[in-house]
Amino acid sequence: MSVGIDWVKAWVGDTVRVVSENRVRLIELDREIGDGDHGENLDRGFQAVKAKFDALPDGETPAAALKLVATTLISTVGGASGPLLGTAYLKGSQALGDATSLDSAAIAAFLTAARDGVVMRGKAEVGDKTMIDAWTPAVDAASAAAEAGKSVAETLEAAASAAEKGAESTEPLVAHKGRASYLGERAVGHRDPGAESSSLILRAAADAATA
Ligand code: ADP
Ligand code: MG
Ligand code: MG
Repeated sequence: MSVGIDWVKAWVGDTVRVVSENRVRLIELDREIGDGDHGENLDRGFQAVKAKFDALPDGETPAAALKLVATTLISTVGGASGPLLGTAYLKGSQALGDATSLDSAAIAAFLTAARDGVVMRGKAEVGDKTMIDAWTPAVDAASAAAEAGKSVAETLEAAASAAEKGAESTEPLVAHKGRASYLGERAVGHRDPGAESSSLILRAAADAATA
């Protein structure tokens, strides 16, 4: 089984909906350990992505569509998360070349390049209490699933489940990157908003492959 542009469109559509539904929750998480704008930042960005996708020409490759997500997020999302997530979609899209059909190995390569883009830009490691705590377990799980010959849907399911556990794993941590790092021990006991939103985005990717 492989996926193509229809999966990208479904993923983006699900992401727009899920980010909008979780806007207030992400604002509340960011209010605890940041400046309270994460839900607003992402919702603004993905509403702009929706407008671009509504006008997406027929016959676009997955890479071209995902690059459009990247450039839109970079230009419309203020704050740390816009350039970071934008770079994820940009580097991920570059890993796809002009492929129209993506198998589980291509999905794993996409997620790996996306995560590497976030690290290149933000220099966070696992345990720093950032979105990387969702992305890296997701990449590891997706790579293992693809290696084991799992389907695209199973590979994305593995990534989404690992990202959810990764987001949860940020709760007891002290932050070493981003605004939450100014809080020291006061960040302990709060989930990182960017890890949570990344897990929602990766869950949407899995849902789009099974719908
Ligand atoms: P801002 O902090 O500028 O208001 P957002 O609230 O939109 O931006 O995003 C905050 C999220 O960005 C954090 O929860 C964290 O997951 C992520 N983040 C911040 N700095 C980094 C970094 N250097 N590397 C990876 N992720 C980061
Ligand atoms: Mg913020
Ligand atoms: Mg901000």
